[in-house]
Amino acid sequence: MMKKASKIKSISESQVRGPIHSFSETEIKSLRKKLLKWYDANKRDLPWRNIKGEDTNHKAYAIWVSEIMCQQTQVATVIDYYNKWMKKWPTLESLSNSSIEEVREVWAGLGYYSRGQRLLEGALKVQNELDGQIPGTAEQLQKKLPGVGRYTAGAIASISFNEATGVVDGNVIRVLARLRMIGADFTSKNVMAAMWDLANAIVDPDRPGDFNQSMMELGATVCTPQAPQCNTCPVQSHCKAIKQMDHLTRDPATKLTKSILSQPPLKKEEIQDIECAADGCTLCLDGPPDTNLGVMNYPRKPKRKPLRQQIHAVCIVERQLSQESEYLVVQRPDTGLLAGMWEFPSIEIAEGISPKKMRNKMDDYLKGTLNMTLKNVQKRRHICQFVHMFSHIQQTYELETMIIEEEEGDGCERSQESEDTPHHQWVSRSAFENQAVSTGMKKAFEAYNGRAITKKSGKKSKKSEMENGNAAKQRKLDSYFTKKEEKTSRYFTKEDS
Ligand code: SF4
Ligand SMILES: [Zn+2]
Repeated sequence: MMKKASKIKSISESQVRGPIHSFSETEIKSLRKKLLKWYDANKRDLPWRNIKGEDTNHKAYAIWVSEIMCQQTQVATVIDYYNKWMKKWPTLESLSNSSIEEVREVWAGLGYYSRGQRLLEGALKVQNELDGQIPGTAEQLQKKLPGVGRYTAGAIASISFNEATGVVDGNVIRVLARLRMIGADFTSKNVMAAMWDLANAIVDPDRPGDFNQSMMELGATVCTPQAPQCNTCPVQSHCKAIKQMDHLTRDPATKLTKSILSQPPLKKEEIQDIECAADGCTLCLDGPPDTNLGVMNYPRKPKRKPLRQQIHAVCIVERQLSQESEYLVVQRPDTGLLAGMWEFPSIEIAEGISPKKMRNKMDDYLKGTLNMTLKNVQKRRHICQFVHMFSHIQQTYELETMIIEEEEGDGCERSQESEDTPHHQWVSRSAFENQAVSTGMKKAFEAYNGRAITKKSGKKSKKSEMENGNAAKQRKLDSYFTKKEEKTSRYFTKEDS
């Protein structure tokens, strides 16, 4: 056991980090002052920044909710969800009395659905095991709360409990990488360890929460992934990436720009300040920077893994009753992608499968898995094909519809259900719209209703409006597939799992 520990230590000690990738004490003081001043004057007005009162436990709950929602989701999208959530569950205790179904309904459309489930589990744990008190340090938060990792723990502890601990999220990584010219793959353990060391070293001990938010705010609004606004950056004088570009673009062998040439050239010590002296440094760029990219050389993106490709046959089964139509929806398993969400009957199919086989497979699913025999099928049509993107999967949906005309209770025979039968039910249009349904299925319903599929809700793209015209035709499945020269309506939508 002892041997193993000393081996691990020697590996981490062998990671060479050149001194240009760290901050001096003087720089740290200056950075804190400049960033906090800038933050006080420029911070965005966000609902979780306006929590009134001295109740730190309540503040921690609100920050916890906002931080979990903001993971992998843009702040502009989160605001409405956050307000809705806090209106429904203003306290952690009220959340702990809710059901997973209610949580899924409020979370629907926000993506990465397990986040809502973890929040509910966390609330239950705090209420049942921790006397209703959220742990007050980053270490305990991470240890005790499900779904709370190092970043979220640091954010809650620094913002709500004033603990002087740093945070490292995507925005902070970008700012630090540019300030300190860290160009090695930031997903590596070594670079992440360096990022945490830097974040913990620079956090302001008097205003840790505000300081951490100022770093994140700078990354979100000024030091952005594309087109960073270096001219208005409050910490430009500490930025080594911009100094390096300034120096490199003066070299006639690379690229000269008028604005750079109008500035005095870097002094000798300033040049030393952007040249890493450490042999085998594990934080430097792997090779010379691309002057066309400018400061965007940092951070260096890891090579993206190719997206997993899946094809799904999706069938919107509508039964037309005397009053209104109902739609068949099935609940996904409790774990994995889109856990617990409701969807139209959906099955993964092999690439290149014939339309007839696809239809047979859907029939088998309805009959064999859901134990349903659908009678009086009046129409069965192919609607469109659309591509739905997850962070790691590209799903192509072959969307068809089946319309059943029936009297109440007729037209659909159900055999005995077993424990393995997925939960399924008939829901009205309004119930479907308020149910915990994934964005992909909402888009499928839009296409079915002849509405355009848009990449972002609320905005209709010209392309999708045009395509909507095609969707409205709703060609019959058979004719659609037999005429090879006909092209399908194809849409693209995006969601996180
Ligand atoms: S100067 Fe530019 S690259 Fe450097 S930290 Fe500021 S915005 Fe980012
Ligand atoms: Zn280096």
